[in-house]
Amino acid sequence: MVAVTKSVPIERIQEAFEAGCRVFGESRFQEALPKIARLPSDIEWHFIGKLQSNKARRVASAFRVIHTLESESQLRELSKLTEPVDALIEVNVAKEPQKAGVLPEDLDEFWDLASQCRSVRVRGLMTIGPNLGEPEAMRPYFARLRKLAERFGCRWLSMGMSSDFDVAIQEGATHVRVGTAIFGDRPAH
Ligand SMILES: *Cc1c(COP(=O)(O)O)cnc(C)c1O
Repeated sequence: MVAVTKSVPIERIQEAFEAGCRVFGESRFQEALPKIARLPSDIEWHFIGKLQSNKARRVASAFRVIHTLESESQLRELSKLTEPVDALIEVNVAKEPQKAGVLPEDLDEFWDLASQCRSVRVRGLMTIGPNLGEPEAMRPYFARLRKLAERFGCRWLSMGMSSDFDVAIQEGATHVRVGTAIFGDRPAH
């Protein structure tokens, strides 16, 4: 379980740490930096937000896993790293025009490209999926991501959030990204 801490203050993250959580997810790099600096160093930080190419190397140094690999320009930046980073390719399984992620039909090509990048260890796939309001309606999309991952023989599947992580686990998720179900509602922006 990746406990998602965007907009959650440090004191509350510390509480979750004391309750046993060791894996945390942040989607905003600037917001994450002071948290990473001040919280215990045995936390495993996962980056789950939009990865801007110009920040990709700094993100890779601060985070243990990047869930949102999706573009050649990110790969170009990451290829300059000296230490390899674990990454998941974000897939736009429902082909939503406004969403980030590689389209399923482009995944073969992007997988090959990412695999050639020696400073990136491609561990699996990630999806956010459509916001359907009904967990059961997500099942086909989670199943689709699992089938795609099977083609590449990759093990990690990051899918499922507060509202649908149980369905995602039934469909093979290895990483669920859970925010509000742990920390309560985030403040509206
Ligand atoms: C915020 C966020 C989550 C957590 O969402 P909840 O509904 O609060 O569980 C999961 N994944 C990503 C990519 C997010 O940005």
